[in-house]
Amino acid sequence: MKVCPVENLDCEPTTEATVEFSLDGKPLLTFMEFFRIIAQDETLVENYRVVLEDSKGVVQLESVSPFFSRLRSQGASKFKILFDPIQIDNKLAYLDLFFSKKKLWPGEEKKIMYQLAVDEGNLGFVQFYSTKDSGLDVQKIFTRVKDVTQTIDRVTGKQHLPYSIFIMPAPISHLLGGEGNFYLGEGKITMNYGEVLTVDCIGMCAVLRMIENEISHEYTHAIQSERGPQKWPDPKLPTDSCFYEGMADALTVYLGYNEQQKLLEATTYAEGCPKSIMQINNMPHNFGRCLFGHLMQENAFSEDFFKRLFNPEMKYLFEDACDVSLAQTCQKYLELFNWASGRDLTRVLKENIKGNCK
Ligand SMILES: [Zn+2]
Repeated sequence: MKVCPVENLDCEPTTEATVEFSLDGKPLLTFMEFFRIIAQDETLVENYRVVLEDSKGVVQLESVSPFFSRLRSQGASKFKILFDPIQIDNKLAYLDLFFSKKKLWPGEEKKIMYQLAVDEGNLGFVQFYSTKDSGLDVQKIFTRVKDVTQTIDRVTGKQHLPYSIFIMPAPISHLLGGEGNFYLGEGKITMNYGEVLTVDCIGMCAVLRMIENEISHEYTHAIQSERGPQKWPDPKLPTDSCFYEGMADALTVYLGYNEQQKLLEATTYAEGCPKSIMQINNMPHNFGRCLFGHLMQENAFSEDFFKRLFNPEMKYLFEDACDVSLAQTCQKYLELFNWASGRDLTRVLKENIKGNCK
C-alpha cells in the first residue's frame, strides 16, 4: 500500500485491494449487489473506482450516501478496488462483505473460495453454496428445506410442487434487485442467506432459521403460482401482489417460520391499511402484512382458515388488491375472509383495516 506523505499530497498514489471468488477451485462469476464500500470520510467515497482484474463482466457503482456506495457486478470473478488518489490509511475506508465480519481493507488481497453441495430427490433439487470453511451442516439444511415445503403442502392441501432451489450467500447471490429471495416460476427459487464465511459469523441455527423464513415464503409463492385454481386472481398481476404477499407471510407466521412481529409491525398505522403504506420500502408486502396482521390479532388464523384460502369455492377477483378504499376490493376481502374463518369479520375490515366495505 502506498500512501502520500502530508508534505507531498500530489504524489498520485494508488492504493489497491483485490477480491477474488472461486468455486471448487475454478473462477466463480458473481452476480451480486450487496458489496459495500464504506468510508468514514465523505470525500473518500468519491475517490475510488473498481476495475475488473479478469476483464470479464460489468460492475456498477452506486453512491447511496456520502459514506457508503454499493457495488453491483454481473459476471466477474476478480475485482481490484483502487482508492485513488487519497491520503488514506486502512482505518478510513474498507469493503464490506454484506452481513459479514470480514472486511477488505485497502492494501489487502482476499480469495474467497466456495463449494457447492447438491441434493436431488423426488421432492426437488437443491444447490447450496458455502465457503469451504463455513462449518455448516449441509444435510441439516437439505432436511429443513424438505420439512418446510412438505408442511406447506399439507396445510395448503396442495400437491407438492417439485422445486429447484438455489441457496447462496450474498456476494454470489445470483440475482440483482431485491434482497435475492425470489420465486422465478416453474418451481425455481433463489435464496440469499447473507454471508457466512465461517460458522461463528452467523451460526448453523441462524442459517436454518433463514431457510425457514425465506424458503417458506418463496415456496408459498410457488404453490400460489403453480397450484392456484382458476378462481384465483393472476398471481403475476401487480395489483394482486399485495394479497399474495400478505397471504404468504401470514401462512409462514402461522406455521412458526417467521416471527409474529413481521405482521404486527404493519398493523400500527392509525389510518388502517391505506394503499400508501406500500410506499414504505416500495413493496406490496407491507400492505399484505397489515391486512393479515389485523386478522391475526383477531385470532382468525387456523389450519382450516389457510386450507380454505388456498382452496376457494368462490371466485375472487379484486379491482385492486392493494386498495381497500375501493368498495369492490373491500367487499371481496370480507367475503373471502368470512368464509375462510367461519366468522363475521366486518368490524375488522371496517374499523381496523378501515376499508370501504358496506
Ligand atoms: Zn414475496
